[in-house]
Amino acid sequence: FDLWKFTTLITLVVIGFFGYALFVILRQKRLSEVQRDFINNVSHELKTPLATLALASTTLHERSAEKDNKYLTIINNEVARLHKNVEDILEASFIESKRPIQKAPLQLDQFLNTLTEGFKSEYASKLISWDLTGEANRAIFSNEKLLEKCIRNLVDNAIKYGGKHIKIAFSQDQNQTVISVADDGPGIPKEHLKKIFKKFYRVPESQHQHNQKGFGLGLHIVKSAVQNLGGKVGVESKIDVGSTFKIILNG
Ligand code: ADP
Repeated sequence: FDLWKFTTLITLVVIGFFGYALFVILRQKRLSEVQRDFINNVSHELKTPLATLALASTTLHERSAEKDNKYLTIINNEVARLHKNVEDILEASFIESKRPIQKAPLQLDQFLNTLTEGFKSEYASKLISWDLTGEANRAIFSNEKLLEKCIRNLVDNAIKYGGKHIKIAFSQDQNQTVISVADDGPGIPKEHLKKIFKKFYRVPESQHQHNQKGFGLGLHIVKSAVQNLGGKVGVESKIDVGSTFKIILNG
């Protein structure tokens, strides 16, 4: 047994291991930087022309003759759909890039009140009835924009899949804050409940009695965002009764 050779071998193995770990960390860092630049570039290159298109077609719509309105409405709707899809893809990449999130104190009752009033006017034409209940005894420390995006995705889904009565509720104890969005839509088949938060997962249209289009990104964004905010998301659902999504935040 040659102690000298053995020690040299162990030292080389340890150095090799740390060297490799350092290489992996640096490569990961470089990849995150590349991903961040990519998101910034794509944001600009896709969103700017879409915004210009939306403005141009709305203006044309206002000035156009009756016979062209049908086609301009189609263009408007499709541009809006494309815009939403691009936003969702960018949002998902942004969240996955795990950039540090800025947090600030947020007054929950005030925040949800304003948000719900916004939903009411946005969805006025769909004749939805709204309920907002809850009590907040302290501010939470969170990111307003990200939390708004999560609630918006849940509300958009609730209405998209057929809900007509939307209940938003919130509660707090010493350790947790819970925000829930409940609908009276078709419900989600049990075997899909665990999978709907996965990226690109959609319940097959035939099993869901709907013909709504989508990317399967909305709930993935909610789940990742809530995790980044320090919490988790859950769902309960009953066929023909409705679905309730819960955002549970630590703190
Ligand atoms: P998308 O709406 O683009 O399909 P989501 O990730 O937002 O993607 O939702 C995943 C799937 O979960 C949807 O395809 C739909 O089948 C189901 N789902 C989500 N929210 C609801 C809801 N409130 N009621 C019924 N089904 C829902």
